[in-house]
Amino acid sequence: MRFFKFLCVGILVWMNSAALAQEAKLTEALPNIYCMVDTTGNGANATFITTKEGVIVIDTRGNNSEAGEVLKAIRKVTDQPVVYVVNSHFHNENISGNGVFKSARTIIAQKRALAMTVLEAAREKRKVTPANLAFDKKLELKLGKYHLKLIHPGPAHTDGDLYIYVPKWRIIFTGGMVYNGIIPFLGDSNIESWIDALREMEDLDAEVIVPGHGSVGGKPLVTQMKHYLMELKRFVNDALDDQKNLPETIEIVKAKLKMKYSGWKHFDRVDENVVRAYVEYSAKRGT
Ligand SMILES: [Zn+2]
Repeated sequence: MRFFKFLCVGILVWMNSAALAQEAKLTEALPNIYCMVDTTGNGANATFITTKEGVIVIDTRGNNSEAGEVLKAIRKVTDQPVVYVVNSHFHNENISGNGVFKSARTIIAQKRALAMTVLEAAREKRKVTPANLAFDKKLELKLGKYHLKLIHPGPAHTDGDLYIYVPKWRIIFTGGMVYNGIIPFLGDSNIESWIDALREMEDLDAEVIVPGHGSVGGKPLVTQMKHYLMELKRFVNDALDDQKNLPETIEIVKAKLKMKYSGWKHFDRVDENVVRAYVEYSAKRGT
């Protein structure tokens, strides 16, 4: 656990823009790698890496006010410009602060995440600052001494997820694919291939995990997320084997998940998760 040092730098940020603003806490996951951890379980984390050639921001939070707090935190540690912004996927809490960083040279997303960002903004008649560089499977970024590998593992939390692996620093930024101690949102997910994506992450040589939601931790965070999804899958498939209908399945699976996950934030999402799994695995059976 040589690098597994979390230095809480003591900034508790109370977002000042009304009801939707989310409370966040700044943590230094590794030297020069900072994570603004959403402490409510409602928003998403934002991360920044400071280098001698500029700053890389990963996810920009849910609105300009929250993004402004990220920029303020950056300015407390460096005067370097923000060079790259990466959106881990298209959900509002990951992209809505992009406009605060529009002077960045490049805003990057997986190509389906970019398409969904534009589509959703048009549908909701909302202004966004979308990515100006999109990729399909893999993209490598170099800035200062940091070499980031951006990887799209296939559909997972959404259809356009990416995670970032920095081999030299043995760290993974998981985007929405890992929630720490929070029941995940599965509304746009493919559970089966999300489990595969987490297996892919487990195989990487990494020690520090920066999740999309919840506190920074170690490799067990990836396994813990995988176990939640695998148990959801197993319990729903058991109910399908027993010819249970959807309301019965929700009741049975919720009771089973409660035994292990009642301490996680947002246990209220479990009903929707069971519906999602029921739809996905019923379809696989052709029923
Ligand atoms: Zn998400």
